[in-house]
Amino acid sequence: MLLVSPVRAFSDNYIWLIQAPADRGVAVVVDPGDDRPVEQALQQGGLKLRAILVTHHHADHVGGVAALAARHGAAVFGPARETMPCAVQAVDDGGTTDLGHLGLEFSVMAIPGHTLGHIAYVGHGAIFCGDTLFSAGCGRLFEGTAAQMLDSLDRIADLPDATRVYCGHEYTLSNLRFASAVEPDNPDVREALADTGRKRERDEVTLPSTLGRERRINPFLRSRTSAVRSAAERHAGRRLSTDTEVFAAVRSWKDGFR
Ligand code: FE
Ligand code: ZN
Repeated sequence: MLLVSPVRAFSDNYIWLIQAPADRGVAVVVDPGDDRPVEQALQQGGLKLRAILVTHHHADHVGGVAALAARHGAAVFGPARETMPCAVQAVDDGGTTDLGHLGLEFSVMAIPGHTLGHIAYVGHGAIFCGDTLFSAGCGRLFEGTAAQMLDSLDRIADLPDATRVYCGHEYTLSNLRFASAVEPDNPDVREALADTGRKRERDEVTLPSTLGRERRINPFLRSRTSAVRSAAERHAGRRLSTDTEVFAAVRSWKDGFR
């Protein structure tokens, strides 16, 4: 199994640090929005940084890339369809990262919605999905449409249940509060909310999740269930005729949810 650890940044970002299977002393990081906590983690672990993977162009995911790349001579992979504030080797849907020498092979999946060129890195039974799929939630639609986001989540949901989900933020607890407003009778949501509440009281990291778990608790992966559909219709106060309309209604419900 891939060795992955969280590096905390800002108030709720996670920068994922992967230790290369071919050499445990070598690290790859995902979405380093800040270089300082990464430097600290590298120093603590006695690790050499060899590569950086970026999912989308937002500052809290790329802010540390230029400094880290310059200091460590690390290769940087990033989305082909976004204007990046730093130099990257562009990768696009269906492509792969050139990291075979580190024992790593990730395929790239285009998952637009949060931003238009957003990508995920998939491999070793894991997905690094930035701000697209969160545990019990999904990213806001800053650039894309509800139809694009639903399609992206559908693509992610095609991966096996055991796939570990590494997302960009610790949003699990507030997402579960929303999930339980949408599905008050879902026992998996109720249990996840209690469990996550206990974890967060101890300041524990709630990630990675798995796709199997997300299928049970995430209202954005469950928008085709009758429970989520009728909750969305009740909240919108009208009949919603397509899957996209249901998904869009749940997304905008969440936007205003406190
Ligand atoms: Fe973002
Ligand atoms: Zn973010």
